[in-house]
Amino acid sequence: MSKFFLAMGFMFFCGSINADILSPYYTDTSKAIAYYSEIADKDSNNIGNYYDLASVFKEFGENDRAVDAYRQIVMRRPKEVRSHFELAKAYYFTGDYKNAEEEINAVIITGKENWEVSFWSGCILIEEGRFDEAIDTLAKGLNEDDRKNVVYIKLAQAYERKNDYLKAIENYKNALDADKTHIELNEKIALLYEKTQNIVSAFKYWNKLGDIDTKDKNISEKIKELKALYPEIKKIIEGWEDKKQKDRAEYMPPARLPIEKGEAIPKVKIGVLKDVVGVRFKCGADFKVYDPTQTMIFTGEKLKEYNIVVEGKKAYISLAGKETSKKYFDNEIYITKDEQAATTAVYGVKYGEGFYWAKKVDTSYRGDFIAKLENEKLTFINDLNVEEYLYGVIVAEMPASWPLEALKVQAVAARTYTFRNMKKHKKEGYDLCAQQHCAVYEGLTKEEKYAVQAVDETRGELLYSADNDIMDTFFHHSCGGHTEDAYDVWGFKHVKGLEGIYDSNDAKWNFPLSPFWMEEWVRTLPDVYCKVDGRGEVSFRWIRYLDGEGLAYFVNRMYPLGKIQKLEPVKRSKNGSITKVLIEGDKGSKIVNFDQIRNALGKLRSNVIKWEYTKDASGYIKEIFIYGAGWGHNVGMCQRGARGMAEKDKKYKEILYHYYKGSYIIKKYQ
Ligand SMILES: [Zn+2]
Ligand SMILES: [Zn+2]
Repeated sequence: MSKFFLAMGFMFFCGSINADILSPYYTDTSKAIAYYSEIADKDSNNIGNYYDLASVFKEFGENDRAVDAYRQIVMRRPKEVRSHFELAKAYYFTGDYKNAEEEINAVIITGKENWEVSFWSGCILIEEGRFDEAIDTLAKGLNEDDRKNVVYIKLAQAYERKNDYLKAIENYKNALDADKTHIELNEKIALLYEKTQNIVSAFKYWNKLGDIDTKDKNISEKIKELKALYPEIKKIIEGWEDKKQKDRAEYMPPARLPIEKGEAIPKVKIGVLKDVVGVRFKCGADFKVYDPTQTMIFTGEKLKEYNIVVEGKKAYISLAGKETSKKYFDNEIYITKDEQAATTAVYGVKYGEGFYWAKKVDTSYRGDFIAKLENEKLTFINDLNVEEYLYGVIVAEMPASWPLEALKVQAVAARTYTFRNMKKHKKEGYDLCAQQHCAVYEGLTKEEKYAVQAVDETRGELLYSADNDIMDTFFHHSCGGHTEDAYDVWGFKHVKGLEGIYDSNDAKWNFPLSPFWMEEWVRTLPDVYCKVDGRGEVSFRWIRYLDGEGLAYFVNRMYPLGKIQKLEPVKRSKNGSITKVLIEGDKGSKIVNFDQIRNALGKLRSNVIKWEYTKDASGYIKEIFIYGAGWGHNVGMCQRGARGMAEKDKKYKEILYHYYKGSYIIKKYQ
């Protein structure tokens, strides 16, 4: 327990873990301050009320009032360690570092120091300009837990302010390593490398940012500029290109035995590349190309590279490097082969745009292809049967090293999702895309033995809801302990089987939680199926830190609000997700809803969050600490929980029925 925060054990008051259902905290959060003020006034001896009140004040950036509320507790319970700790933080948020230091020392003196106490102590020392002491104190925190990204960030800041850039870089790198969602740190590292004249290293970090965000003009300009200015960088890029060309020339799309009785399985069309001006591929067998009238217009040889390129209003297919072989078409072509075991390599498929895992990969696919020309852009579509498609989907969504029963859960969920969403991209000429929008599909690179086994052992099985409809089998990485209603977090109509559930058969926390207990929820490790307490695991509980500049960067990518002055929760679902947020900047304000909240506030892992923020002298947010639980939208199946259940010997059907209440399985084909 000591590893994680000053938790409940340090508190002398015994509150029951639940909120009054009547609390406006969940329906109209703007009324929460008045509501909890009134309760605290009425029953001023119940210090739990002040914890709730202070918790709400912090969310509204009302740090002076949070200080007052915590002082009420300290006055009544001078020996309660937790209240001094909270008061120290609250003083820090108001910029009163002298009092903050006094309060944090009152905690240290008790000997109940953990990484978090060292952390805040370090934060206070940095603001007081005592960098060496701050560094020592923060390092002490690392002795207790060396995977806390926020500690590394603060260490980096202390070194940066001491002008020790190399140490600052090292700590920013450690922070990124501990939690890769902090993508903006790549820029901090790049800029520090520039200050130390290490242009090659700076370039590598700019380039990483360019991969994450291909649309950011500043970054692509920067990369171009560095390439033009420094011959050594030009050389690096050429080296990468050469290696890629060499790898491609040597690569052979592997043969894969087709699934048995494949003719009985429905087919699916997956959009692999969209809005591109060129496609390059290599097939493991000789192939034929047909036009829409089913006339063969072209033939290709195995293991040679072919291009499909847009040229004006038309497009052509040709053998790479051989212009004379061009065959033009003006709507679409169908690429097929007789040898069913052969697969096709497609180059430069983009995945994860905007996320830290963004990448461009060469990968091979089973099945046939359609190249579709529309508005002078190409769409490249993989046409294959559903089961073979699922072979390439499961591992992109869940590691093959997880228990087989969990993989089977994923297989049924993915198959059901596929049939349920068959017409999602009908307008674009295919069924599903290969991105997170539908399901990440990376073809053969993601086909692994146990995933294939999971698909085979559940062949044809679909999940149906209590309404006898194909279930909307949404899933997410980790719910953090409680899944969500689709109604609450997306505004969907009520759907049977998509109601939030406590992710354990033994619910110890009664939702909805009061503001204070909500804060505890995101800061502690409740005993649920998806609980992870391992090193480097940041899917279950995490802390996202942003300085004012970082926050403004993410907000302004979506809404031009300028420098950010205020952040306010407007609505929270009863299961914990913030579903409406007010963001106020010097150029305007905006109410942000649902999933967009995660993107706007710095690519957060989930909406189950509580935050604390400080302001600078001009009233702009100076830094924000966002505490979060889980990873994903929290609707439907919790993958990490499915793994937890499988490890407790639950079978895949039981796991599915846990997450999708009232559902049942039907075998659609043999
Ligand atoms: Zn899609
Ligand atoms: Zn869960």
